[in-house]
Amino acid sequence: MLVIGGGINGVGIARDAAMRGLRTVLVEQHDLGSGTSSRSSRLIHGGLRYLEQGNLRLVMEANRERRVLLRIAPHLVWPLPFIFPVHRGDRIPVWQLAAGMWLYDVLALFRNVRAHRMLGKRAVLEHEPALRKPGLVGGARYYDAQCDDARLVIATARSAITHGALVANYMEVRGLERTGGRVVGAQLEDRLTGHRAVVSAATVVNAAGAWADRIRLFEDAGATPLLQPTRGTHIAVDRTRLGHRDAIIFTSPIDGRVMFVLPWGDQSYIGTTDTDTAESPDAVAPSAEDCIYLLRSANALFPDARLGLEDIRSAWTGLRPLLADRVARAASRRSREHAIVRGAGGMLTVVGGKLTTYRPMAAEVVNRVVRELRQRDRRPLPMEARTDEEPLPGGETRDLSPFRERGIETGLPPDTVDHLVRAYGTEAAGIYNLGAADRRLFRRLAASHPAIEAEVIHAVRRELAQTVEDVLVRRLHLYYECADHGVPAARRVAELMGRELGWEEARIDEETSRYFDLVKATRAQRRQLIRGAGSATTEAE
Ligand SMILES: Cc1cc2nc3c(=O)[nH]c(=O)nc-3n(C[C@H](O)[C@H](O)[C@H](O)COP(=O)(O)OP(=O)(O)OC[C@H]3O[C@@H](n4cnc5c(N)ncnc54)[C@H](O)[C@@H]3O)c2cc1C
Repeated sequence: MLVIGGGINGVGIARDAAMRGLRTVLVEQHDLGSGTSSRSSRLIHGGLRYLEQGNLRLVMEANRERRVLLRIAPHLVWPLPFIFPVHRGDRIPVWQLAAGMWLYDVLALFRNVRAHRMLGKRAVLEHEPALRKPGLVGGARYYDAQCDDARLVIATARSAITHGALVANYMEVRGLERTGGRVVGAQLEDRLTGHRAVVSAATVVNAAGAWADRIRLFEDAGATPLLQPTRGTHIAVDRTRLGHRDAIIFTSPIDGRVMFVLPWGDQSYIGTTDTDTAESPDAVAPSAEDCIYLLRSANALFPDARLGLEDIRSAWTGLRPLLADRVARAASRRSREHAIVRGAGGMLTVVGGKLTTYRPMAAEVVNRVVRELRQRDRRPLPMEARTDEEPLPGGETRDLSPFRERGIETGLPPDTVDHLVRAYGTEAAGIYNLGAADRRLFRRLAASHPAIEAEVIHAVRRELAQTVEDVLVRRLHLYYECADHGVPAARRVAELMGRELGWEEARIDEETSRYFDLVKATRAQRRQLIRGAGSATTEAE
């Protein structure tokens, strides 16, 4: 089986298939998780807003999956308390919130981290004193979960590899191989070396997310688009500016949409927008309008914040690979559910879904593949894989305190130990071992970030990192978490990678400057955004 696309859906499918014994190859044109799967709200959630749409089945499934992911990846998925404040005149009044909260607990079979509690005005302010006081009438406190989306993708891919899958990043599908009209493989190009190759497969699964319609055109030049994407932007600011403690979910005073203010270390990120778009998935970037909308919504809820565009530390935009809805409905109300479509050449295209529910969706795709293969040549293949039982790498135990203690014993500072245990779970031990063999690898990559050099070695040896961007953006997150986007660490990262991958000096230079270029482009985008915002505000006035 060939899987196209290394987002959460592709790697989930590859893991499920490999666990059932299918010979599986996954190719990703860029880095694992570099598409929508690392540009999410980073929530593993029951989907409170789907309650409003009456989609109880989806809520129930998502609630179950939250339990599964908290169990199989406790380092990458962690419980997160939310406060839902209600102000007079909000689109969702307190009585409706109370009913929704009750139903949410019912659909979680009362097995959420903790049951919800309705709060009066005073109790809301005890939790969140920085919230706007005038008009506040009460709220609720409940639990969902937060995740490291990019690392969840990488961990899932690694689990697939452990079960025998071949996973290649920077391997682009440039066309499909056909015999008698059937898709029987794909033409590949290695984007790092330019090498080309053909891979044959009994089944091809297209899990290319927002790019899925492009792959479908390789199969059938007249294929009708399945997707009608919407764009979603998040912005991150210093957490002290908002002064919140828990995660906050609220309805935007601008248009009543449900939004989040979420904690992430010393940052808060605010999201998200949900706007119809026809832009290419290769070029999505935050727009001035998106950022202004998010800032205004947050400023209205936290009146002392007074955030402006210059306060944005980082921003990311993803395309929701939503199913086209021929019946015109508002973008944010369109179904989030997935579809599996068999194309003219027999390729299965899977679109839609959420990070939260990737596992059952993957199982459904592989069930379909197994049924087809059984029909074709009667080969005995199992109808299920216990992807819900086997932990992802690093998730072997929920009690990570021994790994924390061991980290402290090595002499690493507590913030680094916390960072390592959260990012690697039980595999933090592997990072300590690297440092024990060479103490220099315990050095920080940047003064303002807890990440250390040993992680770069781990990223190359275990996590398929191929470029400096892979390390600093999706594995260690300095790009998002440091005010300077991790630029001063780039050269050192390239040198450490070079040692592992046998890079010459020229390649080290090239990789370093490629990262500089990425950051330069980000900064230019930000400047343009601020300029664009100037004109957007003038127009609005
Ligand atoms: C703003 C936003 C917030 C979200 N928040 C949440 C959330 O909090 N919780 C949640 O559960 N869900 C959330 N989602 C939904 C979730 O992120 C997506 O449904 C999910 O990430 C889609 O995964 P995917 O694998 O289908 O797509 P992608 O992650 O985009 O993966 C597709 C991959 O295919 C690759 N590809 C494309 N063309 C080729 C080719 N020719 N050859 C090889 N590879 C190719 C791409 O490079 C890409 O990496 C959010 C979505 C958005 C946009």
